[in-house]
Amino acid sequence: VVVPMATTNLFSEAIFKDGAFTSNDSKVRAYALQKTMNAIDLGVELGAKIYVFWGGREGTESDATKNPITAIKRSREAMNFLCEYVTDKKYDLKFALEAKPNEPRGDMYNPTTGHMLAFITTLDHPEMVGVNPEVGHEQMSGLNFYHVVAQAVEAGKLFHIDLNDQKGPRFDQDLRFGSESIKNLFFLVKLLEDSGYEGPRHFDAHPYRSEAEAGVWEFAAGC
Ligand code: MN
Ligand code: MN
Repeated sequence: VVVPMATTNLFSEAIFKDGAFTSNDSKVRAYALQKTMNAIDLGVELGAKIYVFWGGREGTESDATKNPITAIKRSREAMNFLCEYVTDKKYDLKFALEAKPNEPRGDMYNPTTGHMLAFITTLDHPEMVGVNPEVGHEQMSGLNFYHVVAQAVEAGKLFHIDLNDQKGPRFDQDLRFGSESIKNLFFLVKLLEDSGYEGPRHFDAHPYRSEAEAGVWEFAAGC
Protein backbone atom coordinates (compact mmCIF):
# COMPACT_ATOMS: atom_id res chain seq x y z
CA VAL A 1 0.00 0.00 0.00
CA VAL A 2 1.39 3.41 -0.99
CA VAL A 3 -0.17 6.33 0.84
CA PRO A 4 0.28 9.56 -1.16
CA MET A 5 -0.65 11.85 1.73
CA ALA A 6 -0.43 11.70 5.50
CA THR A 7 -1.64 14.06 8.21
CA THR A 8 -1.97 14.42 11.99
CA ASN A 9 -5.12 14.84 14.04
CA LEU A 10 -4.33 17.93 16.13
CA PHE A 11 -7.95 18.86 16.77
CA SER A 12 -10.19 16.16 18.26
CA GLU A 13 -8.39 15.32 21.51
CA ALA A 14 -9.42 17.50 24.46
CA ILE A 15 -5.80 18.52 25.03
CA PHE A 16 -6.00 20.57 21.80
CA LYS A 17 -9.18 22.40 22.86
CA ASP A 18 -7.40 25.77 22.68
CA GLY A 19 -5.03 24.96 19.85
CA ALA A 20 -2.04 22.75 19.06
CA PHE A 21 0.82 24.79 17.56
CA THR A 22 -0.84 28.02 18.78
CA SER A 23 -1.89 26.84 22.24
CA ASN A 24 -1.01 29.18 25.09
CA ASP A 25 0.35 26.15 26.96
CA SER A 26 3.96 25.41 25.91
CA LYS A 27 3.53 21.76 26.94
CA VAL A 28 0.62 21.38 24.51
CA ARG A 29 2.67 23.00 21.73
CA ALA A 30 5.54 20.59 22.44
CA TYR A 31 3.15 17.62 22.49
CA ALA A 32 1.65 18.72 19.16
CA LEU A 33 5.12 18.78 17.60
CA GLN A 34 5.97 15.38 19.07
CA LYS A 35 2.72 13.86 17.80
CA THR A 36 3.36 15.35 14.35
CA MET A 37 6.96 14.07 14.19
CA ASN A 38 5.79 10.56 15.10
CA ALA A 39 3.08 10.71 12.43
CA ILE A 40 5.56 12.06 9.84
CA ASP A 41 7.83 9.06 10.54
CA LEU A 42 4.90 6.68 10.05
CA GLY A 43 3.63 8.49 6.94
CA VAL A 44 7.06 8.38 5.27
CA GLU A 45 7.36 4.69 6.14
CA LEU A 46 4.08 4.12 4.26
CA GLY A 47 5.28 6.12 1.24
CA ALA A 48 3.75 9.55 1.84
CA LYS A 49 5.24 12.40 -0.20
CA ILE A 50 2.84 15.10 1.00
CA TYR A 51 1.98 15.98 4.56
CA VAL A 52 -1.20 18.01 5.12
CA PHE A 53 -1.73 20.39 8.02
CA TRP A 54 -5.23 21.45 8.93
CA GLY A 55 -5.17 23.43 12.17
CA GLY A 56 -8.68 22.70 13.30
CA ARG A 57 -8.26 24.23 16.77
CA GLU A 58 -5.86 27.06 15.83
CA GLY A 59 -8.12 30.01 16.56
CA THR A 60 -10.36 31.56 19.16
CA GLU A 61 -13.93 32.18 20.20
CA SER A 62 -12.87 35.17 22.33
CA ASP A 63 -9.93 37.29 21.19
CA ALA A 64 -9.22 38.18 24.84
CA THR A 65 -7.79 34.66 25.19
CA LYS A 66 -4.96 34.69 22.64
CA ASN A 67 -2.87 37.28 20.83
CA PRO A 68 -3.18 36.73 17.05
CA ILE A 69 0.33 38.09 16.41
CA THR A 70 1.76 35.63 18.92
CA ALA A 71 -0.34 32.87 17.35
CA ILE A 72 1.09 33.52 13.88
CA LYS A 73 4.61 33.55 15.31
CA ARG A 74 3.95 30.21 17.05
CA SER A 75 2.58 28.76 13.79
CA ARG A 76 5.76 29.86 11.99
CA GLU A 77 8.00 28.44 14.72
CA ALA A 78 6.23 25.07 14.44
CA MET A 79 6.48 24.91 10.64
CA ASN A 80 10.15 25.95 10.69
CA PHE A 81 10.90 23.29 13.31
CA LEU A 82 9.10 20.56 11.33
CA CYS A 83 10.85 21.55 8.08
CA GLU A 84 14.18 21.15 9.91
CA TYR A 85 13.02 17.77 11.20
CA VAL A 86 12.20 16.53 7.68
CA THR A 87 15.52 17.88 6.37
CA ASP A 88 17.53 16.26 9.19
CA LYS A 89 15.81 12.92 8.53
CA LYS A 90 16.48 13.29 4.77
CA TYR A 91 12.82 12.60 4.03
CA ASP A 92 11.38 13.27 0.57
CA LEU A 93 8.34 15.05 2.01
CA LYS A 94 6.59 18.35 1.40
CA PHE A 95 4.01 20.12 3.53
CA ALA A 96 0.60 21.38 2.34
CA LEU A 97 -1.33 23.87 4.47
CA GLU A 98 -5.15 23.68 4.45
CA ALA A 99 -7.06 26.83 5.35
CA LYS A 100 -10.54 27.15 6.80
CA PRO A 101 -12.15 30.37 8.07
CA ASN A 102 -14.06 28.96 11.06
CA GLU A 103 -15.54 25.75 12.50
CA PRO A 104 -14.77 24.27 14.92
CA ARG A 105 -13.29 27.56 16.24
CA GLY A 106 -15.21 30.81 16.06
CA ASP A 107 -12.39 32.17 13.91
CA MET A 108 -9.26 30.40 12.71
CA TYR A 109 -5.86 31.93 11.91
CA ASN A 110 -4.67 32.06 8.28
CA PRO A 111 -8.34 31.64 7.29
CA THR A 112 -7.97 31.33 3.50
CA THR A 113 -5.51 29.83 1.03
CA GLY A 114 -4.44 33.38 0.16
CA HIS A 115 -3.45 33.94 3.80
CA MET A 116 -1.54 30.65 3.74
CA LEU A 117 0.35 31.67 0.59
CA ALA A 118 1.45 34.90 2.30
CA PHE A 119 2.40 33.02 5.49
CA ILE A 120 4.52 30.51 3.54
CA THR A 121 6.73 33.29 2.18
CA THR A 122 7.73 34.12 5.78
CA LEU A 123 9.04 30.60 6.55
CA ASP A 124 12.70 29.56 6.68
CA HIS A 125 12.15 26.93 3.96
CA PRO A 126 9.24 28.18 1.83
CA GLU A 127 10.20 25.78 -0.98
CA MET A 128 9.13 22.84 1.24
CA VAL A 129 5.66 24.22 1.94
CA GLY A 130 2.61 24.66 -0.30
CA VAL A 131 -1.16 24.62 0.06
CA ASN A 132 -4.05 22.17 0.12
CA PRO A 133 -7.10 24.23 -0.84
CA GLU A 134 -10.54 22.72 -0.12
CA VAL A 135 -13.53 23.73 -2.24
CA GLY A 136 -15.96 24.15 0.64
CA HIS A 137 -13.53 25.93 2.94
CA GLU A 138 -12.97 28.77 0.46
CA GLN A 139 -16.68 28.92 -0.40
CA MET A 140 -17.40 29.36 3.33
CA SER A 141 -15.56 32.69 2.87
CA GLY A 142 -17.59 33.44 -0.26
CA LEU A 143 -14.56 33.08 -2.56
CA ASN A 144 -14.28 31.85 -6.17
CA PHE A 145 -12.49 28.52 -5.70
CA TYR A 146 -11.26 28.47 -9.31
CA HIS A 147 -9.46 31.79 -8.74
CA VAL A 148 -8.08 30.59 -5.39
CA VAL A 149 -6.53 27.49 -6.97
CA ALA A 150 -5.30 29.43 -10.01
CA GLN A 151 -3.30 31.73 -7.70
CA ALA A 152 -1.80 28.70 -5.94
CA VAL A 153 -0.92 27.10 -9.29
CA GLU A 154 0.68 30.30 -10.55
CA ALA A 155 2.77 30.48 -7.37
CA GLY A 156 3.92 26.87 -7.82
CA LYS A 157 2.28 26.05 -4.49
CA LEU A 158 -0.54 23.63 -5.33
CA PHE A 159 0.82 20.51 -3.60
CA HIS A 160 -2.53 18.80 -2.86
CA ILE A 161 -6.25 19.56 -3.27
CA ASP A 162 -9.42 18.66 -1.35
CA LEU A 163 -12.34 18.30 -3.73
CA ASN A 164 -15.93 18.49 -2.50
CA ASP A 165 -18.80 20.99 -2.69
CA GLN A 166 -20.74 23.38 -0.50
CA LYS A 167 -23.99 25.35 -0.45
CA GLY A 168 -22.44 28.79 0.02
CA PRO A 169 -21.22 30.41 3.25
CA ARG A 170 -22.35 28.24 6.15
CA PHE A 171 -21.00 25.23 8.08
CA ASP A 172 -18.51 22.94 6.29
CA GLN A 173 -20.65 20.50 4.32
CA ASP A 174 -18.18 18.30 2.37
CA LEU A 175 -20.85 17.56 -0.25
CA ARG A 176 -20.25 15.52 -3.39
CA PHE A 177 -17.78 17.16 -5.79
CA GLY A 178 -19.74 19.04 -8.41
CA SER A 179 -23.10 18.60 -6.73
CA GLU A 180 -23.64 22.36 -6.31
CA SER A 181 -21.01 24.49 -8.05
CA ILE A 182 -20.89 22.71 -11.39
CA LYS A 183 -19.79 25.68 -13.52
CA ASN A 184 -17.07 26.91 -11.15
CA LEU A 185 -15.78 23.37 -10.72
CA PHE A 186 -15.82 22.78 -14.48
CA PHE A 187 -13.30 25.62 -14.75
CA LEU A 188 -11.38 24.11 -11.83
CA VAL A 189 -11.08 20.69 -13.50
CA LYS A 190 -9.99 22.39 -16.73
CA LEU A 191 -7.36 24.32 -14.73
CA LEU A 192 -6.04 21.17 -13.06
CA GLU A 193 -5.84 19.35 -16.40
CA ASP A 194 -4.36 22.27 -18.37
CA SER A 195 -1.82 23.28 -15.70
CA GLY A 196 -0.16 19.86 -15.59
CA TYR A 197 -0.99 19.43 -11.90
CA GLU A 198 0.30 15.99 -10.93
CA GLY A 199 -0.61 15.85 -7.24
CA PRO A 200 -3.40 13.75 -5.75
CA ARG A 201 -7.00 14.49 -6.73
CA HIS A 202 -8.30 13.97 -3.23
CA PHE A 203 -12.01 13.94 -2.42
CA ASP A 204 -12.64 15.26 1.10
CA ALA A 205 -16.34 14.56 0.70
CA HIS A 206 -18.68 12.58 2.92
CA PRO A 207 -21.35 10.20 1.61
CA TYR A 208 -24.78 11.38 2.64
CA ARG A 209 -26.10 9.90 5.85
CA SER A 210 -29.32 8.91 4.14
CA GLU A 211 -27.45 6.52 1.82
CA ALA A 212 -27.24 2.74 2.06
CA GLU A 213 -23.99 0.97 1.16
CA ALA A 214 -24.60 0.94 -2.60
CA GLY A 215 -25.24 4.67 -2.48
CA VAL A 216 -21.90 5.25 -0.79
CA TRP A 217 -20.14 3.73 -3.82
CA GLU A 218 -22.36 5.71 -6.18
CA PHE A 219 -21.39 8.84 -4.26
CA ALA A 220 -17.70 8.03 -4.75
CA ALA A 221 -18.24 7.41 -8.45
CA GLY A 222 -20.24 10.65 -8.65
CA CYS A 223 -17.23 12.58 -7.32
MN1 MN B 1 -10.10 19.01 3.86
MN1 MN C 1 -14.38 20.36 4.79
